[in-house]
Amino acid sequence: MKKALITGISGQDGSYLAELLLEKGYEVHGIIRKVSFEDARHRLMNIAHIQDKIYLHGASLENQLSLYKVVKDVQPDECYHLAAMSFVNYGLEEASILTTNFNGTHYLLEAIREIVPFCHLYFAGSSEMFGYADISPQNELTPFRPRSMYGISKLAGYHLVNIYRKRYGIFICTGILYNHESPRRGFEFVTRKITSTAVKIKIGLEHKLILGNLNARRDWGYAPDYVRAMWMMLQQDMPDDYIVATGKTHSVQDFVKITFKMLNLNYKDYVVTDQKFYRTAEEVPLSGDSQKIRAGLGWKTTKNLTEIIEEMVKEDLKIEGLKCRY
Ligand code: GDP
Repeated sequence: MKKALITGISGQDGSYLAELLLEKGYEVHGIIRKVSFEDARHRLMNIAHIQDKIYLHGASLENQLSLYKVVKDVQPDECYHLAAMSFVNYGLEEASILTTNFNGTHYLLEAIREIVPFCHLYFAGSSEMFGYADISPQNELTPFRPRSMYGISKLAGYHLVNIYRKRYGIFICTGILYNHESPRRGFEFVTRKITSTAVKIKIGLEHKLILGNLNARRDWGYAPDYVRAMWMMLQQDMPDDYIVATGKTHSVQDFVKITFKMLNLNYKDYVVTDQKFYRTAEEVPLSGDSQKIRAGLGWKTTKNLTEIIEEMVKEDLKIEGLKCRY
């Protein structure tokens, strides 16, 4: 039985990946941060349904020894490094994003090099590495021009990973993933903010949806498709880097329109904008050309944006339904 170790197992991607690996017959181990009971309960929501099938280890990206110990105990055949401080805040004062993400990746790489050098490692890159891109869509050869601390932290991790691949021959793939959504998306992201608030409006719990730039565009995909891409990368004979994206962009306004229409509401009656949620102008939209992974590994998407929104709205209705009964 193959053993997989996932950092960030309780997040959106980690939880879908754990499900996929269990289906494929892996022994699945995950790293979670040691937190208070209340916090843990909230954080473990995404994996509550599989908790008795997986092994959880308490460790932190900031604590080298804790990561080292987990790698030593588990001896994974595959490791998926998804954990990171991930919210894209454009404020430059958030330097801790850079140090936490970079150091965590470094500690994990060192542990793997020393303990399980034949382990296949997946590193979660991000479209934010392209940031202020000159051209759209971007592909694996497009120059990186990050515009946030998060983007810089992912780019620094990417370069470090490349050094470990070249210098020590470790099998490492970087997936450059564009935004991917699901009913497990965090509420701080615009997609979940829209679906959850629209549902609250529908049942009278909210009256307005306050957003930033409605013209901002994103390449939104379906999270379960994206974790399948991660797994596919690690099954190859040679490590490589791949863009994972739909190649289609939609505006925040498009997302709003589809969501409100689904709930038989007219978005114009409820949506207002506030400068508070605006970010610096994004001239060239981030949109990924995923030809390499489609042609090379046979990866495909299974849901379009409307179908993704439908699933998210259903989940948000379910949450409100449960709340209403109490
Ligand atoms: P990310 O920035 O790509 O990681 O994902 P988000 O979901 O946070 O934001 C996607 C886009 O939606 C960005 O261009 C934001 O500027 C835009 N946006 C517009 N209104 C909002 C809002 O109220 N909240 C967030 N998070 N983003 C917003």
